[in-house]
Parts: sequence; structure tokens; C-alpha cells
Amino acid sequence: MHPSFRAIPALNTESQAQAILLVDNSRMFSGMVAATIHERLGLPVTVAASLAEAKQALARDPGCYFLVFTGLVLSDADPDTVLAFFVESGLPMVVVSGVYDEAIRQKVLSRPVVDCVLKNTPGSIDYLVWLAQRLDRNRRIGALVVDDSASARALAATMLRLYGFTVIEAAGGEEALRAVAANPWIRLVIADYEMPEMDGLELTRRLRATCTRDRMSIIGISGAEAPSLVARFLKHGANDFLHKPYSREEFFCRVSQNVDNLDLIGTLQDLATKDFLTGLPNRRHFFDHGGRMFQAEGAAELTTGMLDIDHFKHINDSYGHEAGDIAIRAVANAVAQHVGPRDLPSRFGGEEFAIVASGLLDARVRTYFEQLRSDIEAMDIPLPDGRSIRLTVSIGVCTSGDSLSAMLAEADRQLYVAKAAGRNRVEHAASGAREAAFA
Ligand code: GH3
Ligand code: MG
Ligand code: MG
Ligand code: MG
Repeated sequence: MHPSFRAIPALNTESQAQAILLVDNSRMFSGMVAATIHERLGLPVTVAASLAEAKQALARDPGCYFLVFTGLVLSDADPDTVLAFFVESGLPMVVVSGVYDEAIRQKVLSRPVVDCVLKNTPGSIDYLVWLAQRLDRNRRIGALVVDDSASARALAATMLRLYGFTVIEAAGGEEALRAVAANPWIRLVIADYEMPEMDGLELTRRLRATCTRDRMSIIGISGAEAPSLVARFLKHGANDFLHKPYSREEFFCRVSQNVDNLDLIGTLQDLATKDFLTGLPNRRHFFDHGGRMFQAEGAAELTTGMLDIDHFKHINDSYGHEAGDIAIRAVANAVAQHVGPRDLPSRFGGEEFAIVASGLLDARVRTYFEQLRSDIEAMDIPLPDGRSIRLTVSIGVCTSGDSLSAMLAEADRQLYVAKAAGRNRVEHAASGAREAAFA
């Protein structure tokens, strides 16, 4: 087993560094980039106009930066000094230059620099924003480099670390498969073709058996000249292919494009399954997933609850529709906080939420929903104008039925009983064994 395999137990998502250091002698350019990054990504940007100012900023708060954008021509330092300083600092660096100079460009790209961007071109600010977002997100992605050549492996791993990924290395296919099984956060695999025991094609095929394309991106690499190799990698399930030797720039572009695609698929999945206002599973996903839960566990294990905010029209009328949205989000939050890892919450409609709770003991059914009701009653929901909203909810509960829809329909009937009985209460049909325990 490769030593680094065990050295990284988990993806480090707790990094405190959130800020970008932007060093450039043009205050106008810096101001524009800083404002755009802050506005679109919400990331703080510290602007420095000289190397001395940059050093001061780093000395003041060394742990707060995850990325440096720097010009090479500064009032107090020449390009070599600037490059040397930031390479030494260990911070991922993007060089932003004002003029295209092939010699400087080659010099920059021969150093551990993430990317080299020409600043006076259309779209350069958009590109910098994209870079900032990409490098920020990479920190939440694990990458695996599989290569039997220690030097090739180290080269790719070092670059991936520079781009922010948490990296694991494996010297062969079996080790790679074990690493993926042990670390489900690995979402990018760089797989060499020629390896003893298991080649990159076989590794790709076996990885694909368990990791679908929406979860993991695989990039094949090889120095072999076989013309059919690219197609064979792709047919075995790889997303992309790189010829060795590759340039830093090409490597960065390919890797970024592949993880961008994973993000995009994630976003599309979110759009399809999550409610836009609250981020809770939407009604469609609730039926899909809840239906599967019913199939797998049956009514005996499941409890459904329908929750509706009381007199919500009145809240909209008194505080306005936007305040109403804030209130809906607050209730959604309370629901999300309350449910367990095996439960399924959802925003079912306007101010209605449905929950499928799994494995609730009969004796706990009442306290489960009663606790949620009283948590919501206790909330003081702050509004931007300084006022706050208090509200209550009514909940209908059902613990048995022939299908998920039947259980939901019964919970809905109970919800109306709760409304009729005065609101701010939990109701449940009083019949059958589980129901008797509830009463
Ligand atoms: P009850 O106690 O009987 O449930 O009274 P209610 O006023 O809550 O009942 P009703 O279902 O008649 O009204 C729900 C209101 O919720 C009507 C609708 O305008 C509002 N609503 C639905 N979706 C949204 C939303 O996304 N945002 C906001 N602000 N209001 C919404
Ligand atoms: Mg309603
Ligand atoms: Mg209501
Ligand atoms: Mg049940």
C-alpha cells in the first residue's frame, strides 16, 4: 500500500482560508476584479498595489488566503522577485499580466503557477471570477492519481494540490480501487495506461462499475502512441484523455473542464430535485425517493407527516410577500434540522411541508412531531427591517397505509382535523395498533 494512501484520512473541508489576495499596480483593474468577485462569489478580496503591501497583508493574516492573483510588473519588484516570493509562500498563484510576452509566459508556466491570464482582453474578468470559483470549489473535491511511475505520479499530484484538490496517490490499479472504496469523496481520477498487473483501461472499467459519470470523472493518460488508445479509454468509461508529456496549461484546462462538468451535473440534479426557495427536496423528488423508501421498508417502518403554516395568508398580508418567503425558509430550516439522516423532508407546496420519517418507534411518534411543532412555535424569525415574525404550524400524522400516497392522504386529512380543532397542534388517526400507542 502506498504510504500516502493512509496519510489523508478525510477530505479537509474545514479550511478557514476564504480570501483572495489581489496584487496589481492598477487600482482601477484591482477594484473592478475585487468588486466582481465579491459580488458574484461572496469571497473577500484584499487588494495590494505593491509587493510590500502584499507582504504586509500576508503578515497580518497569514491563514486567511487560499489564492493569489498577481501582476508581474510592480512598482517595487521585478517579475523574478514577484514569482519567487509567491512560489516560496506556497499559495496557489495566478499571474495576471498586462502584455503578452512569450518569454515571460514560458518563464511563468515553468514555475508552480496555476495559470497565466492576460488582463486587457474581453472576458478576462469573467475568466478570473471563474478561476476563483474553480479553485475555491476544488478544495472540496478529492483527486486520485494512479501511475506506476513515481515521478509522473508526483508531477500530476503536485499540480492537483496546487489547484486546491485533496490528493491521494496510488501506484497501481488494486491500490486505486481500495483508495476509492475507502474514500467516497474522490471525484476525479487520473489514470495512467501502462501499468503492470492492471492497465488503465481495466482500472477505468472497474471504477465505472461502481462510480457513475455524474459522481466521478476519469481522465486517462498515456505516453504510448497507439492511435486507438483515446477511443478505447473513452469506451471503457473515461471522460477524457491526455497525452504524456502534457503542458501545465493543458493539464489545468482538462482537469478544470472535467470537474466543471461534475459541478454542472450536480447543479442540474439540484435543480431537478430541490425546491428553489428552501433547498429542501421538492415534491417530485419526495415522491420518487419516498416511493422507494416505502418499497424498501413498508408502512410498518414509516411515518408520514403533513405540516402547514397557520394563517400564512395573514403573514403575507401583514409583512409582505418577501417576509413570507423568509418565514417559509425559516420553517424549512427547522424541518431540515429536526429530521434524522434516514428521514425525508420536503417542501410539498406553498407553505406546506411533508415528511417521511423512517424507523420511528411508536412511542416516539408523538414527541417527534410535537417537538417540531413547539420548535417552530418558539422561533423568532428576524426580518431585514428589524421586525420579526412568530408563527405556528399544524401537523397531521399517519403511521399506516397501503401506499405512500395513501399515507400522505391520511396525514392530510389529519392536518385538516388539526386546523379545525384550533391550529398549532399535532393530530393523528386514533385506530390500529401503532395509532393506539400514539394516542
Ligand atoms: P391555514 O391556517 O388554514 O393554513 O391558513 P393559511 O392562510 O395558511 O391558508 P391558505 O392555504 O389559504 O394560504 C396559503 C397562502 O400561502 C396563500 C399563498 O399566497 C401563500 N403562499 C404560497 N406559496 C408561497 C410562497 O412561496 N411565498 C409566499 N410568500 N407566500 C406563499
Ligand atoms: Mg396551505
Ligand atoms: Mg396554511
Ligand atoms: Mg407506518
